[in-house]
Amino acid sequence: MLRVAVVGSGPSGCYTAQQLVQQDPEVRVDVLDRLPCPYGLVRYGVAPDHEKIKSLQASLRTVLEHERVRFLGGVRVGGPGGVPVKVLRGLYDAVVYCVGAATDRHLGIPGEELPGCWSATEFVAWYSAHPDAADAGFLRDVRSAVVIGAGNVAVDVTRMLMRGAAELRPTDMPQGALDTLAESGVGEVRMVARRGPAQARFTTKELRELGTLPGTQVLVEPGDLALDPAGPETLPAVQRRNLEVLRGWAEQPPSGIDRHIRLRFFLRPVELLADGGRVGAVRFERTAPDGRGGVTGTGRYEEVPAQLVLRSVGYRGVPLEGLPFDEASGTVPHLAGRVVRDGVASPGEYVAGWIKRGPSGVIGTNRPCAKETVASLLADASEPARSDVPEDAVPALLAAGIEPVVWDGWLAIERAEAELGARLGRGVVKLADWDTLLAVARSSQPPSQPRP
Ligand SMILES: Cc1cc2nc3c(=O)[nH]c(=O)nc-3n(C[C@H](O)[C@H](O)[C@H](O)COP(=O)(O)OP(=O)(O)OC[C@H]3O[C@@H](n4cnc5c(N)ncnc54)[C@H](O)[C@@H]3O)c2cc1C
Repeated sequence: MLRVAVVGSGPSGCYTAQQLVQQDPEVRVDVLDRLPCPYGLVRYGVAPDHEKIKSLQASLRTVLEHERVRFLGGVRVGGPGGVPVKVLRGLYDAVVYCVGAATDRHLGIPGEELPGCWSATEFVAWYSAHPDAADAGFLRDVRSAVVIGAGNVAVDVTRMLMRGAAELRPTDMPQGALDTLAESGVGEVRMVARRGPAQARFTTKELRELGTLPGTQVLVEPGDLALDPAGPETLPAVQRRNLEVLRGWAEQPPSGIDRHIRLRFFLRPVELLADGGRVGAVRFERTAPDGRGGVTGTGRYEEVPAQLVLRSVGYRGVPLEGLPFDEASGTVPHLAGRVVRDGVASPGEYVAGWIKRGPSGVIGTNRPCAKETVASLLADASEPARSDVPEDAVPALLAAGIEPVVWDGWLAIERAEAELGARLGRGVVKLADWDTLLAVARSSQPPSQPRP
């Protein structure tokens, strides 16, 4: 019988476990996650007001509740206090790393280190109740914000900045973040892209949603749209539809509404300017199409006031100690999901999801990605089984001082979040700190037992 560890319980980890149990009638899968809560970015990234996408957690749940799958939360692999990659490898026939792309890219411009400039990741983690996130005073004294980027995450954070209490209350957002967002004095958010609307990566549905926010008008400068050399007829369908939406907003007469989302294009940030020890403005250089799909600077500059700057210019994987890592792509080198060490596929080590192919695609893209990896794993597993793999890895983890949060512990967290929501007159409200999550999980889960 094959014993497999899947590291990471996000979409790619869950789809990997699903493929394994569907394709091998005997395999046993442990899904390890450093957090006590499963589902990765579906819980800690997908915007709280996107309930339909959030509800994908229900289908990931059925995977983790499968009789041959076991969730072991609170188990970090690699790094300080974590299970070393080599040790984990010794506890299973195969290990599949599905650890995502946990960090974000920098702008690389002066002033980026100023208080008030954050990554969208940090902001998202805060309103999503990630236990590593802190309330960094994101919205203190903020009247206008700049979001740099033109993807769906940039749209998400722009929208969350403009949502009011009535729309936030039905979400599972932690109460502290809800109060802060609902009471914020942000009256203007500029979402700014280096290139033109034809290169923007947001999807039309998400873009259009910005125009539905109560009490907020979306403003687009007609001049920004006119700059794009490509005729709409030459564009792919998504970009063509985006342009139609943007043109509609550009042609709107002023409404008298004083809360605005301004969508700007062809502006490259060159410096963040300080005011009173924190960000006060962003200096942009106007860009122009270079005729090859990129942009070039024009030497003309403009300054935009902002007390909050969120950069959303892409995610990046982080190296996991003991695993090879390609700095250029921010991924683990692989061949059809097999981890490649020193140019050759390393026996029993695999990757899937964002750490395998980089941060691209939607949640569903992780399914075929996991399928490819599992096909490689099962093809390799036809070789003679190892005899030195223990029946159950948990005793070894306990001996190393790591007590996993098992499924009952997670269910206790779910119950506590429902109870908290009921007390606050809301639906489910997420718990946001390590101590509470672990105390709740450990108070009700039976001591970890070796698998019978
Ligand atoms: C802000 C944001 C919003 C998004 N919204 C949408 C959306 O609305 N719709 C959509 O289709 N897609 C969305 N996506 C994309 C989607 O979330 C990803 O495609 C998907 O989550 C990638 O899955 P993954 O399993 O590779 O990584 P992740 O979901 O990041 O899961 C990785 C898991 O590994 C765990 N882990 C990491 N390191 C370790 C370690 N050392 N030891 C143990 N565990 C570890 C993490 O805790 C995490 O649970 C969004 C992405 C972001 C960043």
